[in-house]
Amino acid sequence: MDLTYTPAERAFRAEARRWLAANVPRAPLRSFDTAEGCAEHRAWEKKLHAGGFAMVPWPVEYGGRGANLLEWLIFEEEYYRAGAPRRVNQNGIFLLGPTIMEFGTAEQKARYLPRIASSEELWAQGWSEPNAGSDMAAIAASARREGDHYVLRGQKTWASRGAFADWLFGLFRTDPSTERHKGLSFLLVPLDLPGVTVRPIAQLDGEAGFAEVFFDDARVPVANRLGDEHRGWQVAMATAGFERGLMLRSPARFQATAQRLVDLYRENAGDAEPTLREAVVQCWMDAEAYALETYRTVCRMLGGGKIGFEASLNKIFWSELDVRMHETALRLLGARADLLPEAPAARGVGEWLDGYLFSLSGPIYAGTNEIQRNVIAERILGLPRSG
Ligand SMILES: Cc1cc2nc3c(=O)[nH]c(=O)nc-3n(C[C@H](O)[C@H](O)[C@H](O)COP(=O)(O)OP(=O)(O)OC[C@H]3O[C@@H](n4cnc5c(N)ncnc54)[C@H](O)[C@@H]3O)c2cc1C
Repeated sequence: MDLTYTPAERAFRAEARRWLAANVPRAPLRSFDTAEGCAEHRAWEKKLHAGGFAMVPWPVEYGGRGANLLEWLIFEEEYYRAGAPRRVNQNGIFLLGPTIMEFGTAEQKARYLPRIASSEELWAQGWSEPNAGSDMAAIAASARREGDHYVLRGQKTWASRGAFADWLFGLFRTDPSTERHKGLSFLLVPLDLPGVTVRPIAQLDGEAGFAEVFFDDARVPVANRLGDEHRGWQVAMATAGFERGLMLRSPARFQATAQRLVDLYRENAGDAEPTLREAVVQCWMDAEAYALETYRTVCRMLGGGKIGFEASLNKIFWSELDVRMHETALRLLGARADLLPEAPAARGVGEWLDGYLFSLSGPIYAGTNEIQRNVIAERILGLPRSG
């Protein structure tokens, strides 16, 4: 692994930095879990796309700029350094896009990827069901084949940004005689189809961060299937690999938080208890270690490698690091951590508190950390299955 940047990579970094400095909105956008905030984020995505920075590692014909994955990491570093908005179409650009690139037909690539890159079409992920969370193989939503259509029945839940999305990708049981991982297919479903009902789920803060989606004989063309019929589990595992192992949470996000934590420590060092210094340094080192590990993964992929079960190790690491960083920040803020955002001394506190609350969901989404530990035990360490 060579950690020096080539002149072309340095030039790319400079170009991305210049463009972001000129274009990142000065004021933070509203939350993308609200209709207005979602619209603001979509407008930002359009701008990114027009600037050629929506999804840099994708081929030009699909809305990217044909960069390699190392340049994508560089772009991510610059993106977080510039304090740019979170990516509202992360399900599309980081999860579905790479899956279509691997499993899609030429027609599917041409149909879907450019509209994902431009966020003209916003995507929700439809894995979870009321009785299929950690146990995803218990999926019961069905897709009965009728000629050149599937007829969908059942329910998905916890679809992030589902309340505002245009499409959903999900797993449906296409062979009713099968159980568990077999007989599932990966389908791409427009959310405005007759027979599809999207019901927003209000979070504790009142924002509709999730939706549940009901299917009552909604008809989806067979051409909307990604990968082979009844072999959707294999396709979904590739999506999960991108999610946990590389794209969803790039190291730059955590390096930016670590840097903010160091700044917070400097501002509060006088009042801080001595163990906090060590905790801050440990967080910073862990964020750097995660970055180096990701560079290693990317170098492996550039050499033709694929993401495997080690994605589970990765997911545990970034999600636990995020919780640790925010807990450390709240300890540094001390009693101020409880202030309401409008209080005069609350500058920056709300952001840390919001970040802390969101970090607590990291060990749950993208597959809980308990499940990742099962994967590591069985698939990497070769330990026997329990029960
Ligand atoms: C912020 C956020 C965003 C999300 N976005 C989406 C989305 O866009 N699309 C989507 O489909 N889903 C989404 N989810 C849902 C998420 O995937 C599920 O919450 C998760 O898979 C766990 O399922 P569950 O909630 O049903 O919990 P359960 O599966 O009921 O698990 C409850 C607890 O039991 C533990 N457990 C269960 N089985 C085992 C086992 N075999 N061994 C050890 N421990 C076990 C779990 O680790 C967990 O602690 C999101 C969740 C969150 C928090």
